[in-house]
Amino acid sequence: MVLRDAHNRIIRDLRVSLTDRCNFRCFYCLPNGEPPLARKETILTFEEIVRAVGIFVSLGVEKVRLTGGEPLIRRDLPALVEKLAKLKPGMKDLALTTNGFDLPRHAAALKRAGLDRVTISLDSLRRDRFHEITGVDALEKVLAAIDSAKLHGFEPVKINAVVVRGRNDDELADFAKFARETGVSFRLIEFMPLDSGHGWSRDMVVSGREVREKIEQVYPLRLKERTRGSGTAWKYAFADGSPGEIGIIAPVTEMFCGQCSRIRLTADGQIRTCLFSNVEHNLRDILRSSAGREEVVQFLESTIKTKEARHHINDTDFIQPSRTMSFIGG
Ligand code: SAM
Repeated sequence: MVLRDAHNRIIRDLRVSLTDRCNFRCFYCLPNGEPPLARKETILTFEEIVRAVGIFVSLGVEKVRLTGGEPLIRRDLPALVEKLAKLKPGMKDLALTTNGFDLPRHAAALKRAGLDRVTISLDSLRRDRFHEITGVDALEKVLAAIDSAKLHGFEPVKINAVVVRGRNDDELADFAKFARETGVSFRLIEFMPLDSGHGWSRDMVVSGREVREKIEQVYPLRLKERTRGSGTAWKYAFADGSPGEIGIIAPVTEMFCGQCSRIRLTADGQIRTCLFSNVEHNLRDILRSSAGREEVVQFLESTIKTKEARHHINDTDFIQPSRTMSFIGG
C-alpha cells in the first residue's frame, strides 16, 4: 500500500520538523527574529512523532529527514533517532538538516543511534559575511561541524547554501573549491519566498543556470545523471575528476513539482502537502484522539489527495505562505 496523490505522484519522502525554534537568524528565513512560537503543548512528543512516522513508513515512505527550526535544539534528539531507526529497513534513509552549530557535541551519539546522513547549511566561507547572513559569528563552528560529520562517517556530507544576489553570489567558485578540497556535495539553492520578513523579490534570485555557468567559468562540470528522479538537485561532478560534487536546486526557475514525492510534518503536528501550501491538515488532533491506525491512515490518504499540482511562485496571484521555512521545516 502506498500514498498516491491525485496527480499520480507517490509519497516517498517525509520531512519532520522537530521544533520551530532556531539559534540562527538567517536573513532569508527569520530576518525579524522569531515569529510567534508554537505553544509548548502543541509540539508533538517523541512518541507521537514515532507513531506518525511509523504509519508513514508502513505506507511506503522510504526517506525521513529531521529538520526545523534547528533540530539539534530539541532535547534528547539521539533518543528520538534511536526510536526512528527501528523503522528500518522499511525506512531506507534517516537524515538530519542542521545549521551545524551543535553538531560536534552530538555527532557520535547520533551516529550510534542510527542516523544515516547529515546536511549542513553554510551560506558563506567568509567569517564576517557568515555573521551578517546568519546573525551569529559561528563560521568556525560550522566548519568544525563538517569535519565532525565526516569523522563520524556521515558520508557523503551535504552542504546547503541559499544563493542570494548581492549577498553571496560572488562566492560560487569558492564554494566549488571547498567541495573539491573536502569532498562534500555542495548544493546551491535558489532563494524562495519563505522568509518571515516577506522581503523576497525576484531580482534577489540567482537562477540555477547562472550558478552553474559561474562555477563552470572556473571549474568545468559534468552532469552525473540525466534525470533528477524525485530528488531536488541536478548533480554535477567536476569534469577533471576531482572529488566533491555540486548540486543545483532551482525550485523557482525550474519548477520540479511534477516529480515531487515529498510531504511535511510541522513541529506542531500539521501536515503540509507543499512548501507553499496555504492550508494545513491537523494530524496532531487525530493522534491525540482515540483514533486507531485505520483512521490515521484514512486521514493521511485523503490529505495526500489534496497535494497541490505545483507551486505558484511564478504566478501574478502568488500568495506567500504565512509560516516561514523555520516553522514549516526545510
Ligand atoms: N536549521 C536547520 C538548517 O539551518 O539547516 C534546518 C532548518 S532550515 C529551515 C533548512 C534549510 O532551509 C536550510 O538549508 C536553509 O538554508 C533553507 N532555507 C531557509 N529559508 C529559505 C529560503 N527562503 N529559500 C531557500 N532556502 C531556505
